[in-house]
Amino acid sequence: MHSRSGKLTAFRRTPRGHFAMAAAYSIARDVPLQAWNTFHLAASARYFATVHDAAALPALLAEPTLQGLPSMVLGAGSNLLFATERYEGVIIHLACAAARILEQDEGHALLRVDAGFEWDALVDWTLAHGLQGLENLALIPGQTGAAPIQNIGAYGVEVAESIDGVHGYDLAGAGFARLGAAQCGFGYRDSVFKREPGRWIVTALELRLARGGATRLGYAGLREELASMGDLQPTPRNVAAAVRRIRRRKLPDPAVVGNAGSFFKNPVVARELALHLQSRFDGLAVFPVGRESERKLSAAWLIERAGWRGFRDGDAGVSAQHALVLVNHGRASGLQLLTLARRVAASVRESFGVELEPEPRIVGASFEP
Ligand SMILES: Cc1cc2nc3c(=O)[nH]c(=O)nc-3n(C[C@H](O)[C@H](O)[C@H](O)COP(=O)(O)OP(=O)(O)OC[C@H]3O[C@@H](n4cnc5c(N)ncnc54)[C@H](O)[C@@H]3O)c2cc1C
Repeated sequence: MHSRSGKLTAFRRTPRGHFAMAAAYSIARDVPLQAWNTFHLAASARYFATVHDAAALPALLAEPTLQGLPSMVLGAGSNLLFATERYEGVIIHLACAAARILEQDEGHALLRVDAGFEWDALVDWTLAHGLQGLENLALIPGQTGAAPIQNIGAYGVEVAESIDGVHGYDLAGAGFARLGAAQCGFGYRDSVFKREPGRWIVTALELRLARGGATRLGYAGLREELASMGDLQPTPRNVAAAVRRIRRRKLPDPAVVGNAGSFFKNPVVARELALHLQSRFDGLAVFPVGRESERKLSAAWLIERAGWRGFRDGDAGVSAQHALVLVNHGRASGLQLLTLARRVAASVRESFGVELEPEPRIVGASFEP
């Protein structure tokens, strides 16, 4: 592995408060990615660029060695599957991780947070500043810059509800831009950034959070957890604590067994199909989606009912803890996991007539065989 620093330099503050010259980015060659994806897949990248100052992105992208190569952003690798053992392009990792309050009054605060800030650490940062809105999204792995890509969501809350704007660099030619929330095209695990992969490098988020107000307890499992903790009027901190307890119990820990969380989105289907399936299958979970003509089904329920929970083929498996999570028991390849995911989707299609769509980005292959 060779590495060198970018030509551009920037003044960065050292831990002791002095200013020091530091490279705004560095580029390494032939970099193993096993520690850079939560499936722990043994892939590698031709180039890996670490960016300490987002303003240097144009200079990085103009580097002669990188010309003509594909590029992709990699945060913590908790929502992607390397279906290839070699990425013949440049991986861009944003290491800028500052957070500051831009403006505030008694009721609200507007924050600007760099893409490289770890998401769960940001949840704690906001709580420490007396701000609420992100507590239901505690313990979701990954970087802040990745949060708008699929509009992360959990326990009845989506990050889009707190996003005021997204700062990014447009590789399609517009350069640096700020997209207001309405321009981000947020939907269920979806956004313009996800629909046009490779176009935007998200550099920072602007989040509008509340000081005080009601906590969001619409999710029954969360209310039950809080009740079991004896907390009937929880603070945002206690909501985050309850969410973390549930998640630790329900989801396999990627540090123990490789996974990328939910592998499939909950399918949104025509209301008629949902009602038909509900009449045929006892216990099928069906949720409203805000449009009368459609309903959301539980992908976990469909996969479990099709008999996949705990299934294992070599080291590629479906978690016994949660049917929606594909796991790497050790040395599975990305292609083996992709093959298993396709088999699961085909069997759900055959049993229920419902299409499953993968949630993580698949690098180096398409989901359709
Ligand atoms: C155990 C576990 C539980 C999870 N639970 C949830 C959950 O409850 N809800 C949920 O929504 N998700 C969940 N996830 C998925 C994942 O944590 C989120 O999608 C997270 O936002 C991904 O962050 P990341 O930094 O790891 O992104 P990566 O996996 O590195 O990247 C994911 C995608 O985003 C793109 N991307 C990342 N950063 C940027 C950027 N700065 N600019 C442009 N594109 C970028 C990448 O190119 C890629 O396409 C879970 C994952 C795991 C492993």
